[in-house]
Amino acid sequence: RNLTSLANLSKTEVKQFIDSFDVVLTDCDGVLWLDNKVYEGSPEAVNYLRSLGKKIFYVTNNSTKNRDDLQQKNEKMGYISKKEEIMSSAYLTASYLKERSFNKKVYIVGSKGLTSEFDEVNIKYLPIGPDIVEYNLLEYIDNFKLEPDVGAVVVGFDEHISYIKMLKAASYLNDPNCLFIATNTDERFPVGNSQVVKPGSGAIVKSIETCAERKPVLIGKPGTYIAQAIQKTCKIDPQRTLMIGDRCNTDILLGTRCGYQTLLVLSGVTKLEEVQKWKESSNKEENDLVPDFYINKLGDLLSLVN
Ligand code: PLP
Ligand code: CA
Repeated sequence: RNLTSLANLSKTEVKQFIDSFDVVLTDCDGVLWLDNKVYEGSPEAVNYLRSLGKKIFYVTNNSTKNRDDLQQKNEKMGYISKKEEIMSSAYLTASYLKERSFNKKVYIVGSKGLTSEFDEVNIKYLPIGPDIVEYNLLEYIDNFKLEPDVGAVVVGFDEHISYIKMLKAASYLNDPNCLFIATNTDERFPVGNSQVVKPGSGAIVKSIETCAERKPVLIGKPGTYIAQAIQKTCKIDPQRTLMIGDRCNTDILLGTRCGYQTLLVLSGVTKLEEVQKWKESSNKEENDLVPDFYINKLGDLLSLVN
């Protein structure tokens, strides 16, 4: 992996690069938008690739939204998308359970994004409650009973994570037959306010991993289940597939693992200086984070071919 700047290529070379892939997987937050703000030029760039006949998939680790929400968000911002092109970690988690003919109930540490995707494929779950200690913790523990029939614990982003949720998740996971699934493990999420660190789902997953003394199956990026899910509807030649992302330890690592070409945009999480360090490193795990190409922001692509 060369870490080639697209801006340093000639127009002809950029066109050759664009001709070299048929399928595009694009990350969402950090590439298409930051929270509710669209990145200038990104819709034109994605729609341009679509107009050339490329198949587009929107791949997000965000488990708080269902595919309809994400499609509406796309539409509002000017991205053309079909529901089946949206690969969100909540949807993929529901598909994963469905594929295994899961017929028990899920204990969810997460939000509506998960429950609505579970509803679509008829996966049962315990209602998401506040799960806080309303009285004495020891008394709570003495009176606590596991719900029968729980066969999976799914952990995603939950802004109401609590001690009792950790207690419940770990107690269900004490049964080795209970599935343990993480939607994603992002350490932090980008925010506009530079004074704020916004803890990601990874921090929540780690807390439960620690007390459950088990490791989860990872559904989101850099987990490669996404590639399997896409393969079901779209035949992929890895070498002619491009993964676009702003975060190397999720997006680019997924691309590397699947043998896709990779393009890092510098409009989000990962900074160029970090990647340059990984490129020089003798550690293979760090080398795997290095993309083939990079560009300041996706919106710059059009000016490089016109
Ligand atoms: N999950 C949540 C709750 C988020 O807020 C974000 C980004 O802001 C993500 C996941 C990461 O999403 P993506 O994979 O599209 O970058
Ligand atoms: Ca991202």
